[in-house]
Amino acid sequence: MPSISFSELKLPSPVSQLNSPLLSEKQVQLFIKRDELIHPVLQGNKWRKLKYNLIAANKTARENRQNTILSFGGPYSNHLHALAYAGKQFGFNTIGIVRGEQPQPINSCIQDMLNWGMQLNFIKRVDYKQKTSPVFLQTLKEQFGDFYLIPEGGNNALGKKGCGELLDELDQGYDVICCEVGSGTMLSSLIENNKNLQNNILGFVVMKNINIEIEIRNSINPDNVKNNKWSLSHDYHFNGFAKASNELHQFILNFKQQFNIQLEPVYSGKMLYGIFDLIKKDYFKPHSKILAIHGGGLQGLRGFSEYSEINFENTKSP
Ligand SMILES: *Cc1c(COP(=O)(O)O)cnc(C)c1O
Repeated sequence: MPSISFSELKLPSPVSQLNSPLLSEKQVQLFIKRDELIHPVLQGNKWRKLKYNLIAANKTARENRQNTILSFGGPYSNHLHALAYAGKQFGFNTIGIVRGEQPQPINSCIQDMLNWGMQLNFIKRVDYKQKTSPVFLQTLKEQFGDFYLIPEGGNNALGKKGCGELLDELDQGYDVICCEVGSGTMLSSLIENNKNLQNNILGFVVMKNINIEIEIRNSINPDNVKNNKWSLSHDYHFNGFAKASNELHQFILNFKQQFNIQLEPVYSGKMLYGIFDLIKKDYFKPHSKILAIHGGGLQGLRGFSEYSEINFENTKSP
């Protein structure tokens, strides 16, 4: 039987204030919610989304005497990586349905998942597209037996619930709260759970996806929304998901030197690059208090040769 305990996690995650000549000159205050420090693996956005899914899977395990969790992701998936670790740590069998061919040689993310005992099943991209189809899920049940299903990215109602808790950990008084936007689950949770009428929520979209605003709008229950001040920036996707430029890599390396905070190029690097660019362009009013939520995902750095020199203290398997 699984046994879950979150006592090893650093919660609530700390908030750091950044200091730099630019921030002084523009008279803005910038803070980072350090969700990447929650745990070396169970960190950030993906930890927030796993929490209530693990609690529900634990309950199912007790009721149905079946302790398998199945989920979906790409070959560098922060979500599957965290789930595989949680499976080993808390005693679940885990199955990862991975998009595309098995990479050759195996990458460090997949190596970790295998080491933590996740059963991996690589499927063709066309089949992967059926990841939410009931018929396809039924064939997976025939193949693997019964399981608790967590959708790709942990993006379900329980994932959203976990994201919303982040706001309870914050002090009042921020004018702008910034987050990374992939599927928009974190952002829509922030919008629905935001009880503070003062702040604006600003999402940085990390891929080319002009439909995301409509998708987010459709995913929100308007009855839950007290403060509807939110917007998206599409200006910092760097040509697409997981695409980056030398300028972005240089920004991330400098950021670590200047502030001693590790970013990665898929999510947090793009958001912070965008925030600094907007500060330079006087987008934020003087005296604004800005909070950026670091979504974690530092294991993903290992997929980029630009960071081979850095010390992966934070991203190593515990
Ligand atoms: C998955 C992920 C996101 C994307 O969050 P959504 O809720 O899908 O918008 C952002 N940051 C990190 C580090 C992630 O791993």
